[in-house]
Amino acid sequence: MIDHIFEGNRAFCENEVRPNCEFYEALATGQKPSVLWIGCSDSRIVPEMIANVKPGELFVHRNIGNVVPPLDLNAGTVLEYAINHLKVQEIVVCGHSDCGACKALDADLSHDHMIPNWLSNARPAQKRVDDRLPPASTETERKARLEAIAKENVRLQLEHLRQFPIVQKAEAEGRIHLNGVYYDIASGDLSVVE
Ligand SMILES: [Zn+2]
Repeated sequence: MIDHIFEGNRAFCENEVRPNCEFYEALATGQKPSVLWIGCSDSRIVPEMIANVKPGELFVHRNIGNVVPPLDLNAGTVLEYAINHLKVQEIVVCGHSDCGACKALDADLSHDHMIPNWLSNARPAQKRVDDRLPPASTETERKARLEAIAKENVRLQLEHLRQFPIVQKAEAEGRIHLNGVYYDIASGDLSVVE
């Protein structure tokens, strides 16, 4: 498998980097992304591809379920660097269809240790949806419920983001805008989560 990665890299250098060497040489001198993208680790979600942007345009933070635990050192460090040093103007939290983290909220995870703890940061999203929707009994309803949980999780993580003093301050001063979005894997559509 790792050979496949190196073969792919040789093709990338030949087909992408060499024909665009001026772009990559300039890129090598520094980054100035305007967007912090917070997304899921899911292998099907490729932020630059979804947004059709080049390397250097998105500062990316990914984890299982695109969650932002209010006391997470990793997320806090990313936010501090992105806001204070890179001076990004937009923060995007991206949820997506068929999200394993959202599905896992319904699963028996009693044999896991880390995952249930991590997913507790998304649990309120599931609860909010189940409080407002009747139990799903058909496949269509189950899919709709999962989509509703993924979108509610985006709203929840925006709330978590706003618990970080650095985000509160930057948003109050108009230096950053927070955006919730939802990506549909089958269609490729990115939509706003109100
Ligand atoms: Zn996911």
